Amino acid sequence: MKFEQVIGLEVHCELKTESKMFSSSPVTFGKEPNTMVNEVDMSMPGVLPVLNKRVVEYAIRVCHALHMEIDDVLCFDRKNYYYADLPKGFQITQNKRPIGRNGYLDIVIDNQMKRIRIERLHMEEDTAKQSHYDSYSLIDYNRSGIPLIEIVTKPDIRNGKEAAIYLEKLRQVFIYTDVSDAKMEEGSMRCDINVSIRPYGSQELGIRTEIKNLNSISHVQKAIEFETLRQENIILHGGTITQETRRFDENTQQTIKMRSKEDTIDYKYYTEPNILPICLDYQWIMDIKKHLPMLADEREQRYIQNHGLSQMDAHILAYHKDMSDFYDDVVQQCTEYKTVCHWLLGEGQAYLNKYNLSLRQTKLVASHLAEMISFIQEGIISSKQAKIIFECMMSEGKDPQTIIEEKGIKQISDIETLTCLINEILDDNQIFIDNYEHRKDKVLSFLMGQMMKKTKGQANPKIAHQILLKLLEDRVH
Ligand code: ADP
Ligand code: MG
Repeated sequence: MKFEQVIGLEVHCELKTESKMFSSSPVTFGKEPNTMVNEVDMSMPGVLPVLNKRVVEYAIRVCHALHMEIDDVLCFDRKNYYYADLPKGFQITQNKRPIGRNGYLDIVIDNQMKRIRIERLHMEEDTAKQSHYDSYSLIDYNRSGIPLIEIVTKPDIRNGKEAAIYLEKLRQVFIYTDVSDAKMEEGSMRCDINVSIRPYGSQELGIRTEIKNLNSISHVQKAIEFETLRQENIILHGGTITQETRRFDENTQQTIKMRSKEDTIDYKYYTEPNILPICLDYQWIMDIKKHLPMLADEREQRYIQNHGLSQMDAHILAYHKDMSDFYDDVVQQCTEYKTVCHWLLGEGQAYLNKYNLSLRQTKLVASHLAEMISFIQEGIISSKQAKIIFECMMSEGKDPQTIIEEKGIKQISDIETLTCLINEILDDNQIFIDNYEHRKDKVLSFLMGQMMKKTKGQANPKIAHQILLKLLEDRVH
């Protein structure tokens, strides 16, 4: 029997607001444990939550980017459970009325557009972070109360590759709307996956398992692959799938059962009594939409249509926001679109990979790149020399003119100067001129070599070659 995979994803994303969702303590990452916490995050007696307006604004930005209906009445619910990572004994979330509903994200898979429907987007507060060791566990409450949004898809995803593409695109939405760093490796974006299988052609949903807390896109893909095979194996051996929660073990690359459905806790949700429903101003919601930055897809189209970039280049550029921002700055001053793009995606990316940096961590300045490209075009420097200059601009932040002077890099393109120099070489090498008729290529390349030696590589090779050819022909005939 052939099976079809059915997958739905739940993604948590930490918002990079300055302060927490209900308190004034700061949102941070990697700070000294338990120093970024106040009475509200720890739920001391008598404290009350005050909703951070920025959190709502960020959630609305993402709702707009995902084409969602936005509920104009904000309601929060209390999800009750007791655990060491939750000092309050409850989490404030949105259960009954998520802020966003019925959206979608279009992905491209094998050159085909596919729409992934999104069921809901809601806001909630993060819990503390636990680290488990052999005989003890440590808790860092700095994460308590950091705002989160959770985005839940319909079960529209059909395999691990689609899941990976969806996640990468969603990550770009978070980055472009500037609401989060969305770094899976740092836990600011986390994913739960729901997997079931069904016979091909069937419309019914099979029983699903849920795999919690994946922290990399490649783990998501591997977990889906493993889980599908596990379920197929059970069914082909006459068994049935039980609804349960599992986790992915990175070492064995397998999913492992954590608890079954019967063990699910009843969270006893009820309306959060300390936050009254808040009516959102329609104009405010629309203003947020108006100020939304141009998203990756739109940029990609603009690069193809207005700048003539290839589909591939436009796509890569648009999906690296810092590259794309930088490119936009450079082309304000230099309209050689393709050349700018190739320097960034070619030499630029190679440099970043080599030193494991992001573009922002280098000293490259947009106007310097624009200037360097104009120097190449004017024949002042060769593209080989430009590579040296480019690396220097990235590491030292100097402008190309300064680097050219300091390193003595220049290209000699002046015809008179070149003619003069070539004549000197020809005068010294009569024997080669005598042999020219028989061994044209050899003689030419030897003399060009002499020319480069004489000018320390600064002769414009194209022009020098033309002049050399002409002078040789003159002398022979
Ligand atoms: P819960 O509240 O238990 O997490 P939801 O109904 O909210 O359950 O569903 C969570 C996710 O599971 C959604 O992304 C949904 O699309 C997906 N899902 C639901 N049923 C199935 C199924 N049978 N197979 C695969 N995914 C499913
Ligand atoms: Mg769930």
